[in-house]
Amino acid sequence: MSRVFNFSAGPACMPESVLKEIQSEMLEYGTSGMSVMEMSHRSKDFEDILHTTENTLRDIMAIPDNYKVLFVQGGASQQFAAVPMNLMKNKTADYINTGVWTKKAIKEAGMYGNVNVIASSEDETFTYIPDLDDLKISDDADYVYICQNNTIYGTRYPKLPDTKGKVLVSDVSSMFVSEPLDVNKYGVIYAGVQKNAGPAGLVTVIVRENLITDDVLPGTPTTLKWKTQADNDSMYNTPNTWGIYTCGKVFKWIKDMGGLEVMKAKNEKKAALLYDYLDNSKLFKGTVRKDSRSLMNVPFVTGNDELDKAFIAECSEKGIKNIKGHRTVGGMRASIYNAMPYEGVQALVDEMERFEKSHC
Ligand SMILES: *Cc1c(COP(=O)(O)O)cnc(C)c1O
Repeated sequence: MSRVFNFSAGPACMPESVLKEIQSEMLEYGTSGMSVMEMSHRSKDFEDILHTTENTLRDIMAIPDNYKVLFVQGGASQQFAAVPMNLMKNKTADYINTGVWTKKAIKEAGMYGNVNVIASSEDETFTYIPDLDDLKISDDADYVYICQNNTIYGTRYPKLPDTKGKVLVSDVSSMFVSEPLDVNKYGVIYAGVQKNAGPAGLVTVIVRENLITDDVLPGTPTTLKWKTQADNDSMYNTPNTWGIYTCGKVFKWIKDMGGLEVMKAKNEKKAALLYDYLDNSKLFKGTVRKDSRSLMNVPFVTGNDELDKAFIAECSEKGIKNIKGHRTVGGMRASIYNAMPYEGVQALVDEMERFEKSHC
């Protein structure tokens, strides 16, 4: 067996110790005589798994009691519709456009009401987070929507926008459980877990209780109504049992490590290694403005497509996988999520150094 350093943007690398633990429980979970995959979601064993996963997440994120944690399906993309369906009472919302994922969210919300794009970084291929100081928040906006870490372009909000009292909704898919967040500042936080916490197919939605009501847009499907999920403990129908089980292990891995402050420090150290190298390289350049840099996704280029290709191929031969950039940006992208060890980033930087020496 030879495991590679997997820099994929998602689904992405998982902590090896968690994979081994899951392997050891594959045939029999506890004394249940069966795999978690084979278990009824109504069984006592699975109920315990669900509650442990939720409680560990509440613990590491310090989620206040007046917030519900929902485990739902349909990907982060389905929340692009669920957000307006559950929140658009005035049929108006403000969006900040920072890339592919907000463009999709904006398009989806536009099917249900008026969407005002109050700031955008599209003019410079989304390489920065727009100025947040004097946002024109609409008086009748039901919420203000952001994507806090932009997976494709490698930007992250350096601070939260002042929403002037309006509900803040944040897609944190690619920075979920990578650093502490002040949950009180948000109405809704949601994440597809396949970037930083688990396998594909599970979405975590953290919603302030007063936003969970029966007053949703007409035609909202039962399963997309947050109240359905909240009233039924995410078990209105069969949830993604395997995803919930796996995420529980990852949340515990973070907790055992010392929590999200420790996780953040580790992530900062990894990111600094790569960014410092990029800032001093004569060949490779980061594409994002310094004040907007992500800790999780780091896009970079040589400025020459042939060299980019050659570098990606050389990395692949050495077990440094999935560093090809998103098709809309080109070049390379290293996703250095929680589970990527420092040694992985070091291996990438070593390879960049070698490549630079032989090409400059
Ligand atoms: C990956 C991603 C999505 C889409 O997630 P799906 O689960 O594939 O729908 C949405 N937002 C962000 C920020 C992402 O990184």
